[in-house]
Amino acid sequence: LGRKLNAALSSLNRAPVVDEKVLDALLKEVCAALLESDVNVKLVAQLRQKVKTKVKAALEGGADKGKEQNRRNVVQKAIFDELVGLVDPGVEPYKPKKGHPNVIMAVGLQGNGKTTTCTKLAVYYQKRGFKSAIVCADTFRAGAFDQTRQSATKAKVAYFGSYTETDPVTIAAQGVAKFKKERFDVIIVDTSGRHKQESELFREMVQIGEAVQPDMTVMVLDASIGQAAEAQARAFKESANFGAIIVTKMDGHAKGGGAISAVAATQTPIIFLGVGEHLHDLDKFSPQPFISKLLGLGDVQGLVEHMQDIATQNPDKQKEMAKKLEEGKLSIRDWREQIQNVMNMGPLSKIASMIPGLPQEMLQGSDEEGSQRMKRMIYITDSMTAAELDSDGALFMEWGKDGKPTGLTWRVTRVARGSGTSVREVEELLCQYRMMANMAKQAGGKNGWLQAMQKMQ
Ligand code: GDP
Ligand code: MG
Repeated sequence: LGRKLNAALSSLNRAPVVDEKVLDALLKEVCAALLESDVNVKLVAQLRQKVKTKVKAALEGGADKGKEQNRRNVVQKAIFDELVGLVDPGVEPYKPKKGHPNVIMAVGLQGNGKTTTCTKLAVYYQKRGFKSAIVCADTFRAGAFDQTRQSATKAKVAYFGSYTETDPVTIAAQGVAKFKKERFDVIIVDTSGRHKQESELFREMVQIGEAVQPDMTVMVLDASIGQAAEAQARAFKESANFGAIIVTKMDGHAKGGGAISAVAATQTPIIFLGVGEHLHDLDKFSPQPFISKLLGLGDVQGLVEHMQDIATQNPDKQKEMAKKLEEGKLSIRDWREQIQNVMNMGPLSKIASMIPGLPQEMLQGSDEEGSQRMKRMIYITDSMTAAELDSDGALFMEWGKDGKPTGLTWRVTRVARGSGTSVREVEELLCQYRMMANMAKQAGGKNGWLQAMQKMQ
């Protein structure tokens, strides 16, 4: 979906005149990409109409050279906002509170990834200082408790379940009571699924819900089920009235559009995305960064989170970096450090997509090729002096009287020679750095969304 939308938007940038015809062609491409990703037809039609209404005034007045860029921005913003609207019902999800036993109940059909997600959630909250535990209230699936036991042990989180008790409601109530008594902060109740939506399952969910009184019920939804996600979410909403959605298997070839329709149908926010089978493969979901990433604009927020996660060993350094990001004051040295972090973080393809300004080509090909490219970027920065690394790159440029860059300085040639690369490669690296720094600037600052988001947490 991302690549298609990206292509559609760059065709907008190439159009010399932005008029209704260009808009129609663009909307056609955007809508086709959405439909192909299993977004509900009605939603797509609505989006098209809303964008058209929004930009109508801006498009009137015929061709006018100075105004084309402005029109382009209006069109782009309208599409971006409407896409964000698709995944943002404007409802605040529940956030676990310190000093309170937060009970979270997971519901969803069998195989959607509930048990896996429960462990991921426990790890996520545990890392953030909430003492977490899992209660296995699945007595339907053979071996369910063993699965919980194994994954919870691996994740080093507490768990509760039974090999002999056959009533899931009893187990759920016992487990939650036990962990409340032991002063756990987050208690996650994993329920059983069925292969299809059955009244028996819904009855069981309601009973467990009554017994444990969850602060938040989460529907776990498999991204790979496509259009079926919408009907499934509706049915669960009626009986389990969940307050949040977690979409799993976003790492596969899933189109994800069904999940978007599920959000719209139930007006319930997505809180996390499951992006793999491992304990840490859980990404916090926020509408704006999600759409930015979809459109190839990078995900600064996600990057900050990842950096926070990996640098817990070095909290001071981390604070400093987060502050710089917020203030939009990232030097080349800081950027290089980020790239090095990424290289140490494992599967490159997954993390690289979060670095703003990293060119799309970087994400293509194997992880092997990608890390080769990153290594070259490090070689280049290795040949920079301390002053150059600590700069914002301006000293690599020659500046005209009007404050615009007119060319490159001897420094670029020196760095290229020193690193065994070419002037072109160094120039490219500087361009990428600038893009990243601009993104960070937009995101940071008093009115940036980075601040707004951090305040919300
Ligand atoms: P449950 O029946 O709803 O409890 O589902 P499970 O947690 O047992 O997961 C079913 C299968 O989906 C398992 O093989 C999991 O490893 C896999 N799975 C769960 N979440 C993800 C995810 O985000 N990505 C991928 N690739 N696989 C997942
Ligand atoms: Mg399970």
